[in-house]
Amino acid sequence: TVSVALLSQDLRLHDNPVLHAAHAAADEVVPLFVLDPDIAAAGFAAANRQAFLGDCLADLDASLRRIGGRLVLRRGRAAEETARLAREVDAVSVHVAAGVSAFAHRRESELRKEFGDRLHVHDASLTAAAPGAVTPAGKDHYAVFTPYFRAWQQTARRVPHAAPRALRTPDGPRSEPIPRVRPDSPGLPEGGEGAARRLWRDWDVDGYADLHDDLAADGTSHLSPYLHFGCLSAAELVHLASGRGGEGAEAFVRQLVWRDFHHQVLAARPSAAWQNYRGKGDRWRHDEAETEAWRQGRTGFPIVDAGMRQLAHEGWMHNRARLLTACFLTKTLYQDWRIGARHFLSLLVDGDLANNQLNWQWVAGTGTDTRPNRVLNPTVQADRFDPDGTYVRRWVPELADVPGRAVHRPWKLPEPPAGYPAPIVDPQDTSARLRHARGLD
Ligand code: FAD
Repeated sequence: TVSVALLSQDLRLHDNPVLHAAHAAADEVVPLFVLDPDIAAAGFAAANRQAFLGDCLADLDASLRRIGGRLVLRRGRAAEETARLAREVDAVSVHVAAGVSAFAHRRESELRKEFGDRLHVHDASLTAAAPGAVTPAGKDHYAVFTPYFRAWQQTARRVPHAAPRALRTPDGPRSEPIPRVRPDSPGLPEGGEGAARRLWRDWDVDGYADLHDDLAADGTSHLSPYLHFGCLSAAELVHLASGRGGEGAEAFVRQLVWRDFHHQVLAARPSAAWQNYRGKGDRWRHDEAETEAWRQGRTGFPIVDAGMRQLAHEGWMHNRARLLTACFLTKTLYQDWRIGARHFLSLLVDGDLANNQLNWQWVAGTGTDTRPNRVLNPTVQADRFDPDGTYVRRWVPELADVPGRAVHRPWKLPEPPAGYPAPIVDPQDTSARLRHARGLD
């Protein structure tokens, strides 16, 4: 007998409930990945993520071959290609992870129509706690993080599955070559389960509690792209970190719960990907010159520009920098969060519909933040999270010679630094437009 494991954001052998179930269900398994043109058409196939995905698929194929199997890659609409393949191998069952996006919901219903009860949807793959497993009485999801976190901590933990030791894939099905795409960002990390496990092994989680907000120290795990593509399972990471214990591990698990939190919001409200989760919508300003200055990292606010340039160079940005660059666009410039979310998705190697859109909404005050009018003053943030200016000097070469924290206020220097723009809004009042637009004055 043969089963099909349709993989998408679960490109790993360790703790893979989909592969595990497919393996248990039949003598042979076809691990299938479908490059779906619908994803490219919706603008999600950013070059950085496509390049990283190529690494992930190559790594998975190599790992499968080591235990006797291989990856089968096809191009086309996921449900149709899966149906075609299932006919070719006369599959007894098809296994897939539950997703949270509108795309995933549609794919699942198409697969259901095709396979009926031969389709097995596994909700333990994408997040540590399945969306819907932690809900307040009478509601389908939590809208506030802290009570979600408390309830999450009370839920039973699943013991992660070991990686399969042997797995046979039938010889018949043809496979397309793994696509190799050139990334837009030169400093992209290497993708794949092997790289993810090495990164976790070599990273010091104990320092996380103290260092996670320090921009220059860059002390976070950098695991986000691997979590996005499922090179590591969130459940296994929670298990590993909890086993280690200590303040760093606790703080790290809390961040993983933010990931679960946003996923359960999107699972319950797929429309929140592009529509305000809360509120009818602001009358955002539209100023293309300002937006472009923000995208290019030329706003004249060094901490904002440093973050935006890190994004362009690495396809990744530190969480503190994401918060303050997003706040600058939506609350200081007062521009629509969707413009920013789209730009982030075009470059982020971890660009993720649940995490990106719902963090943008959180910052913009249209999402789950209980203080929707909070404004992060970029210069105050810079003094606090980059106290001696190292992060700014790393990313903004025009300011490389400005010593100490003076680098955060170039407008106060006796000589303006050559080639660096003047601030595009008044640095003394970075919340003026928000206050005005929301009638808070
Ligand atoms: P660590 O600090 O090591 O955290 C470990 C893991 O926890 C992360 O890999 C991530 O999976 C999860 N996590 C941490 N913080 C958050 C958070 N606030 N929300 C959800 N999950 C979190 N994260 C993405 O994975 N994809 C995105 O597209 C994305 N877009 C964002 C956009 C904005 C405007 C903001 C403010 C945040 C965004 N984040 C996104 C969340 C967060 O910034 C990144 O997950 C984090 O910076 C990744 O670095 P790390 O792996 O070193 O994180």
